[in-house]
Amino acid sequence: MISIFLINKYFLDVLLLCIGLLLSGALVYACFVSIIEKEFRAAKVSFILLIFLFTLFITIYLLDFQLKSIISIIFLGIIAFAGLLLFLPIRPKLKGGTPVPKQKHDERDVMFSRNELVPETEKYDSYYSDKPDKKKLDDKFREKAGLLSEKTTFFEAISYASAHANLQVIEALKPIVDGEVASKKHQVDAKTITNYIKTWSVKLGAHTVGVTELKDYHLYSHKGRRDLYGKEINNQHPYAIALTIEMDNDLVKTAPKGPVVMESTQQYLSSGTIALQIAHFIRNLGYSARSHIDGNYEVICPLVARDAGLGELGRMGLLMTPKLGPRVRIAVITTDIPLVASSKPDLSSAIDFCRICKKCADICPSRSISFDDREEVEGILRWKINSESCFTYWCTAGTDCGRCMAVCPYSHPNNLLHNFIRWGIYNSYIFRRFALHMDDLFYGRKPASGKIPKWLKF
Ligand code: SF4
Ligand code: SF4
Repeated sequence: MISIFLINKYFLDVLLLCIGLLLSGALVYACFVSIIEKEFRAAKVSFILLIFLFTLFITIYLLDFQLKSIISIIFLGIIAFAGLLLFLPIRPKLKGGTPVPKQKHDERDVMFSRNELVPETEKYDSYYSDKPDKKKLDDKFREKAGLLSEKTTFFEAISYASAHANLQVIEALKPIVDGEVASKKHQVDAKTITNYIKTWSVKLGAHTVGVTELKDYHLYSHKGRRDLYGKEINNQHPYAIALTIEMDNDLVKTAPKGPVVMESTQQYLSSGTIALQIAHFIRNLGYSARSHIDGNYEVICPLVARDAGLGELGRMGLLMTPKLGPRVRIAVITTDIPLVASSKPDLSSAIDFCRICKKCADICPSRSISFDDREEVEGILRWKINSESCFTYWCTAGTDCGRCMAVCPYSHPNNLLHNFIRWGIYNSYIFRRFALHMDDLFYGRKPASGKIPKWLKF
C-alpha cells in the first residue's frame, strides 16, 4: 500500500514537472518569436508568465507537505479540464451561410471612381443628379488634401515617392491586361493546367491561388475609372483565378504612416505582375484571358477570392485569409481555358471570431467599421464598412490608413506560433474567446502604430 502511494506520488511529481516544463518551453518560444517580430509587449508578457508558471511548478515539485498529492491531483485536473475545453473541436454552425449578392455592383459607386469625378463636367453632373445623396458625403473628402498629397498628416517624402513610383508602373501596365490570343489552340488537361498555374504563381511570389467559376455577381455592371467610365462590362469567361500576395508585416504595422501605402501599392504591383504573366501565358496557349489589376478591374476581387476558397469576408470588409488574415493584396485573371474549381474550406470560424473581436472597429480612426452583428444589406447578411468616412480619412491622412489590417489578430505572421493559435480559432468556439483575450493581453487592445524602419529614413 505504502509503495503504491509512493509510486503514485512520484508519478504525480514527474507529471507536474513535465507539464510545467512543456508550458514553460512554449512560453520561451513565444518570447523568442515575439522578440524576432519586434512585438516587445508580447515578449514581456510571455516572460512574466514564464517566470510565474516556472516558479509555481518547481515550487510544487520541490516542496513536500502533507496534502501535496491531493493538491497535485486537483491542479492536474484543472489543467486537463482547461485543455479539453480549449482543444475539443466545438464548431457550431453559423446562420447565414455564404452570402451571395443578388445584383451586380457598379464600379462608378466605388470611392476611387467618385474621387476621379471633376466638378463642372458632364460625368460629375450626371452622377450626382442620379445619386444626390452621395454628393454631400463626397464633398467632405473633396475638401481634404487627398491621397499621397504633401499637405496630408502623414506626408513623408520617401514613402510617398515610392508609392507614386509603384502607381506609375501599374499605370504603365494597364494596356497589357488584355491582348491577342495565339491563333494555335493547344489542347490542355484541366487538372494539369490548373496545377501548373497554381504552382507557377506560387513560385512567382503568390501566397495562395484558387479557382472559381466566374459568376455574374463577381462582375461590376459598368466600369468606373478614367477613359472607360460608364462602359458596360461584358465578360463571358467561365473561370476566374484569384491569387493573394503577402504584405510586409513590419511595414503594415506602421499604419497609418507612409510606409503602409508604399507597401500596399507595392503588393498591388506584385500581384498584378503575376496576374499579367499568367494571362499572357494562357493567351500564348490559344485561350482568352484578362488580368484584373489595381485600377483596371472588371471583377470584385475579394468576392472572387472568397469563392475560390482563399478566405472569408470579415468585419472590415476585406478578405480574411486563413494564414495572413487581411494582410494580403489580391489580383484576378478571368479566362476560358479549362480549369478545375478549387474546393471551398469552411471558414465560418473567421466570421464567428469577427463577431466577438471588433478590434478593427475599436481602432478605426474614422469609426467606419460597425460594432454590430452582420446585417442584411441588399438581401445578404454581411458587414459593410462606411466607405465614405474611411476614404475621407485617407484623404486627410494621405495614406490608405490600414490600421484595421495592422491590428487584426489574424494578421500576425505565418509561423508555427500564430498558425497554432489560428488552428485553435478554427477548431474551437471556446478557444476563439480565449484567443481574443490573449491577443488583447499580449498585443494590447489598441496597439500603437509601429516605428518607421531605419532603412526608410534618410
Ligand atoms: S480585427 Fe477582429 S473583427 Fe476585425 S476583421 Fe480582424 S478578426 Fe475580424
Ligand atoms: S482603413 Fe483606416 S479608416 Fe478605413 S476602415 Fe480601416 S481603420 Fe478605418
